[in-house]
Amino acid sequence: MNISFEGKTALVTGAGKGIGQDVSLALAKCGARVFALSRTLTDLEALKAKNENITPVVCDLSDWDATEKAVSAIGPLDLLVNNAGVNILEHFLDVTKESFNKIFEVNVRAVIQVSQIFARGIISRDASGVIVNISSQASLVALNKHVNYCASKAALDSVTRSMAMELGPKKIRVNACNPTVVMTELGRKAWGDPKTGGPVLSRIPLGRFAEIEDVTNVVLFLLSDKSAMMNGAILPIDGGFTITGV
Ligand code: NAP
Repeated sequence: MNISFEGKTALVTGAGKGIGQDVSLALAKCGARVFALSRTLTDLEALKAKNENITPVVCDLSDWDATEKAVSAIGPLDLLVNNAGVNILEHFLDVTKESFNKIFEVNVRAVIQVSQIFARGIISRDASGVIVNISSQASLVALNKHVNYCASKAALDSVTRSMAMELGPKKIRVNACNPTVVMTELGRKAWGDPKTGGPVLSRIPLGRFAEIEDVTNVVLFLLSDKSAMMNGAILPIDGGFTITGV
């Protein structure tokens, strides 16, 4: 399947590392102009050095005003990947107001804010657009020491459905994809030790964790016209983890 994003402009959040980095490069290779947003300039400069279609945008998405300024300044955009995400590993009884807010600010609130700016731009140009939200298998099942993260991703799935319903009539498709463990920095912290990762792995019928490329391929499909009738989907990329019983 050939997918081209020639002539399109994309914003990828959390583009400095892991999944966001790979999605940014893949989009640029497929012809898109890519605005790559994260907190760490050196990561983004390294990305730009790999492909000149990539433009760094340094921004902390947990800062509402800074996000408004940074995202409003770029575009016009056709594609948005809400990929930035954070986690704090803690048991339910240890959750604090601070840890809850830290996770929800980035994983949920920033998605709403960045998508609003994106959608207003599309609507004002009477154009069409596509949004992909990077959720997680954590939205669908309980994972040990992931209470805020699981809740934030469940909220993100819900936000995805609301956006799909309200933005669909405005020619903007919105879908989520929900990967299982990927051994990025974030994935390694939670599941890198075989004592924690092993039980998850043993419940994946395909017998392996996801590779970054497994996620990137689905994101490219969801951004492309090949998925033109998909809107509001919550799409697991989990090798079957979330459908397994005992
Ligand atoms: P990662 O390797 O930790 O990379 C996260 C990226 O997000 C980094 O570039 C980071 O930038 C950026 N970021 C974090 N907080 C930010 C903020 N406040 N403002 C701007 N950028 C911020 O993570 P990943 O594993 O690629 O995860 C990407 C997405 O996939 C997340 O939404 C995650 O929840 C989801 N996911 C991951 C897995 C997994 O196992 N890895 C599984 C399912 C879903 P800095 O480094 O500059 O802070």
